[in-house]
Amino acid sequence: MPLFEEARAIVLNHVSTVGIERLSILEAVGRILAEDVTAPWDLPRVTNSAMDGYALRAMDCAQQATLPIEGFIPAGGSLGTSLKPGTAAKIMTGAPMPEGADTVVPVEDVTETEDGVCFPAGVKAGAHVRLRGEDVQAGECVISRGTLLRPAEIGMLASFGKIFVSVYRPPRVAILATGDELVEPGECLAEDRIINSNTLTLAAAIKELGAQPTLLGIARDTPECTREKVLEGLKADVLITSAGVSAGDRDFVRSVLEELGAETLFCRVDIKPGRPTTFALHGQTPVFCLPGNPVSTMVTFEELARPALLKMMGHHRVIKPLIEATLLTDLTKKRLGVLNFQRVSIEVRDGRYLARCSGDQNTGILKTMVQADALALLPEDLDSFKAGDKVYIHLLGGNVDMIPC
Ligand code: AMP
Ligand code: MG
Repeated sequence: MPLFEEARAIVLNHVSTVGIERLSILEAVGRILAEDVTAPWDLPRVTNSAMDGYALRAMDCAQQATLPIEGFIPAGGSLGTSLKPGTAAKIMTGAPMPEGADTVVPVEDVTETEDGVCFPAGVKAGAHVRLRGEDVQAGECVISRGTLLRPAEIGMLASFGKIFVSVYRPPRVAILATGDELVEPGECLAEDRIINSNTLTLAAAIKELGAQPTLLGIARDTPECTREKVLEGLKADVLITSAGVSAGDRDFVRSVLEELGAETLFCRVDIKPGRPTTFALHGQTPVFCLPGNPVSTMVTFEELARPALLKMMGHHRVIKPLIEATLLTDLTKKRLGVLNFQRVSIEVRDGRYLARCSGDQNTGILKTMVQADALALLPEDLDSFKAGDKVYIHLLGGNVDMIPC
């Protein structure tokens, strides 16, 4: 049975991107670039002023000097001629430097007089001038394949008039719940029925990542019904099932997958919760079979499926950092000798993460998942976790802004 990190490595070694599409750069934000983008021109395109001030030759201001002002250059304008020696031109931020001028003196540093403008001594040659190509040179690769497109990258692409880009297509992820006891939310709820919450939980998590969930509904606990739904799910880029994967008499997911020719890469992981988690490949299609208890489903999705989906979306950074947190309460390990994920709520005080048990850690308890901001990873080789001890945590979902307003 693989340890957690081994299982995660197996998963990550067997998934890859699923395709490329072309999108406008605004639609592409949050996606991963699937091409190298090179600069078609220098940036800035022309040498220009970095300040509102006066363009002049620095050599004319070696000493304090009053120079006549010949011309005004607004942003988008030009002097139309070269600057005469011994004169200055008023220039606005972003306006092109006139030929002959090498320096800008900011308006704050000068005194306007009747004879012109008085410039202080010691003007530094080249000051407050942005040189053509100082940011990016034509032909340079400005954003490389595999880069996450954030607002900064969108701005860079826009600066080069690149309004369409190739990005990796997010995978379509089929979600299949299994269980005779399940009804969909909103359906008639008899005493002995349980609402299928896992499908919508998984769909929400998949949407939050930016991938595309497809809801297959519920497979009843028969091989025929499971087979039919699994076959439908295998048309997607990824299939995620919940429940029916333990040792129960009516747990058919694994056997159906094998019968359909899937290769099982692991059928248990040495973790709690989530021990029955199974990962298989049907051709190129990854299949995650997650245990049915809602907390187990969420934890195993978060720790094993999420990194894989991110990789399939083209991301390179797919594993959440382990953050050190100090315990405010004791944590009691549920099973000794295995890696245990426990739900904790987090506070940030003086820049330090503090973790508090979010309550009952039974996998049937949903409330403590709702109250959790993070999962604490209690390692195999330690069993005692007291208030004041340090533990490592993974923050849950996109919840990284931890300081209250
Ligand atoms: P199983 O893995 O089939 O033994 O299911 C484990 C537990 O999870 C049982 O109590 C199920 O009723 C519950 N469960 C299974 N599937 C779902 C689901 N889709 N939504 C909510 N609870 C579920
Ligand atoms: Mg079941």
